[in-house]
Amino acid sequence: MNKSYSKLKTLLFSVSLTLIFVNQFSLASAHSSPKKSEHAEPMDHGHAKKMSHAKPAKSSSHAKPHWEYSGAHGPQQWSHLSNKFRMCASGRLQSPFNIHADISAELPELDLDYHAVPLRVINNGHTIQVDQAGAGRLNVGGKSYELLQFHFHSTSEYTINGERYPLELHLVHASESGDLAVVGVMFKEGAENAELANIWAHMPSRKGTNQVAGRLADVNNLLPRDKRYYRFMGSLTTPPCSEGVNWHMMQTPITVSAAQIARFKAIYPMNARPLQHKNARLVVMGK
Ligand SMILES: [Zn+2]
Repeated sequence: MNKSYSKLKTLLFSVSLTLIFVNQFSLASAHSSPKKSEHAEPMDHGHAKKMSHAKPAKSSSHAKPHWEYSGAHGPQQWSHLSNKFRMCASGRLQSPFNIHADISAELPELDLDYHAVPLRVINNGHTIQVDQAGAGRLNVGGKSYELLQFHFHSTSEYTINGERYPLELHLVHASESGDLAVVGVMFKEGAENAELANIWAHMPSRKGTNQVAGRLADVNNLLPRDKRYYRFMGSLTTPPCSEGVNWHMMQTPITVSAAQIARFKAIYPMNARPLQHKNARLVVMGK
C-alpha cells in the first residue's frame, strides 16, 4: 500500500466515523425517533392483546389500521392506511435494504447478556413472536438496551450482498430513554435448530398467545458463535416504519432445517417487507 493511499484511507475512516456519530446523534434527538411510549413495533407486538378491543372494531378512529404483506393493505399502501404510517413512504432511512459494507472498522463488542425465561409464544397476525420480559440486556458502545421480544420473518427482510435467506430473526430492544436497538440473525438451510424446534412446537397457528408451562426460551441458542456484525441506522420494518432504530446484523448465519422453514411458512408464507433504498446511510462491517 503506498503512502497517499494509506493517508486517504485514514481520512475516509475518520470522516466515516464522524458520519456515524452525526447520524446517531441527529437521529437520536429527532422527534421522529421511535420512543417506547409510541406505537412502535415492540409495543405493538408485546401488548397488542391488551390494547385491542375484545371484538374487532369497525373502522372507528381508535381501531388500529389493518396492514398486510400483500394486496390492498400491502407494503405499497402502508403509508396511505394511516397518518401515523406516513414514514413508510417519506422516510429516508427505511428498513430493510441490501446490506453492503461501505467500510470495515473496529466496532464495539456486542455484550449480549441474555438468559432463559418461561416460554410465551405469540401469533400476532403478522409474525410469530416470543416474549422476552426479564430475559436480559444488550450493552454496546456505552449504551444499554433491555430485550423485549424476538420474532421471525420469512423470507429474510434484509439481503446481504444481494443474498436472501429463508428466515431472519429480530431481537428487539429498548433503552431507558426509549431508543430502539435490533439485533438481526440470518438463518441458512441446514441442520435443525433445537431452540426453534422448542418454539415451533408451541406456536399458535392462528392469532393468539401460548404461555407454555414448564418450558423455557433461551435466545442464546439462536445466536451465532461469531458475534461480528454490520452496523447501520434504519427503521422498524412494519408500520409505523419509525426511524432511528440502531441495527446490528450478525455477519454469520445459523442453520434451520428445510422442515422447520416449511413449518413457519405454513403459518406465514411471506412476512417480509420489500427492500427499501439505502440512500445516504453508512453500513459499517465490524472486523
Ligand atoms: Zn422484524
